[in-house]
Amino acid sequence: MDARLEAIRDTVLARNPGEAEFHQAVVEVFESLGPVHDRHPEFLEAAILERLCEPERQIIFRVPWTDDAGRVRINRGFRVEFNSALGPYKGGLRFHPSVYLGIVKFLGFEQIFKNALTGMPIGGGKGGSDFDPRGRSDAEVMRFCQSFMTELYRHIGEYTDVPAGDIGVGGREIGYLFGQYKRITNRYESGVLTGKGVSWGGSLVRPEATGFGTVIFTQEMLKTRGTSLEGQRVVVSGSGNVAINAIAKAQSLGATVVACSDSSGYVVDETGIDVALLREVKEVQRARLKEYAERRAGVSYVDGGSVWDVGATVALPCATQNELDGGAAARLVRGGLVAVGEGANMPSTRGAIAVFQEAGVLFGPGKAANAGGVATSALEMQQNASRDSWSFEHTEERLTDIMVGIHERCAATAEEYGEPGNYVLGANIGGFVKVADAMLAQGLI
Ligand code: NDP
Repeated sequence: MDARLEAIRDTVLARNPGEAEFHQAVVEVFESLGPVHDRHPEFLEAAILERLCEPERQIIFRVPWTDDAGRVRINRGFRVEFNSALGPYKGGLRFHPSVYLGIVKFLGFEQIFKNALTGMPIGGGKGGSDFDPRGRSDAEVMRFCQSFMTELYRHIGEYTDVPAGDIGVGGREIGYLFGQYKRITNRYESGVLTGKGVSWGGSLVRPEATGFGTVIFTQEMLKTRGTSLEGQRVVVSGSGNVAINAIAKAQSLGATVVACSDSSGYVVDETGIDVALLREVKEVQRARLKEYAERRAGVSYVDGGSVWDVGATVALPCATQNELDGGAAARLVRGGLVAVGEGANMPSTRGAIAVFQEAGVLFGPGKAANAGGVATSALEMQQNASRDSWSFEHTEERLTDIMVGIHERCAATAEEYGEPGNYVLGANIGGFVKVADAMLAQGLI
């Protein structure tokens, strides 16, 4: 790493003790930014990096609610409003027991660069809670969401901060959150949240957008080597929103997705995952993935273990951070891996990324490859602002154009900085320069 940046990194790490995921995200970005500071010494003089690593605002709050047995429960809520140089803070809410400030900050930090890469006018933020929706009734989830919004509402707004979904937050949760926001403020402010239902201000294609976008980005990477997804053997981790839609899109482009997972285990389905059945099991019944194997002949279920042990030519990690380590990466490479498109945020460890890059595997980092979700959220905001709703075809076309544009921007930036094909460098520099220019123009704030 560039020596000037090392000193800034050390300060950031010391100022934010115990936040391992945030440290990881910061270090990964800093490793790309040396050459930018050679060309732009003004960024160092204006302390852009120091400011970028310090969120503009961090909100932590108590979320009290009662479970179905009448017992009082207390969770912790977070919203980190990281950077508004390009637009209102934008980024999802995650409900998962592992959520703490370090996770929210890593996600918010990544979001700044991701949102810049989309070319849309959105800043970076992220939030969530250590609430675990798994095994909770609809009524419990609703009471939790109402309590969460009873504090959050005072910090958000269509010109301020626009949350969306993430792990554990889908259409059901966005509905309860929006209902409570409307009730408290007495405003039908559609643009305050994205991921809404289509009949009340949501956008077609938003549920599919992150998974679809990841696959479109991966297809663009493959094209640079004169190949495509047609005929590829694909493994996807996770079986949530991003994973299911990535599977659907990959198979529509001629790939065979032979495995997917949840946090309990994985299924291997050599003839290709049956997307309709997977949706039924996961989205309608909210059941475990094991049920998919029980309902389809010829499918094996592996309890525990790693889905990356199933060999593939294309890997799409779509579950969670640090789910794919150096050992798994090496096994995948030995099995003939050609490309990785990250649907999740930071799913590959730094060790895994090094293995992929050394082996010449095409590697699309999450901040570029999974940007289709937030980009379509920005399209939802556009539709809300103009009180319009677009067709599926038109919205999907916009999403495709945006993903192709992000791929081009990353590839061109990597080329410009002398490392053609290095999408990590391309995404980090491409996103950073846009934000840094805007911060410089807006003065010391
Ligand atoms: P969902 O809650 O819909 O699904 C998450 C999936 O990942 C589930 O299959 C879940 O399994 C699995 N998972 C979650 N945590 C773990 C864990 N600690 N270990 C193993 N498996 C785990 O979330 P999404 O699909 O929305 O999000 C997946 C990833 O994509 C996240 O990294 C998120 O930040 C990222 N992302 C999401 C976007 C969106 O639009 N939703 C946009 C951009 C990125 P189980 O059910 O067993 O918990």
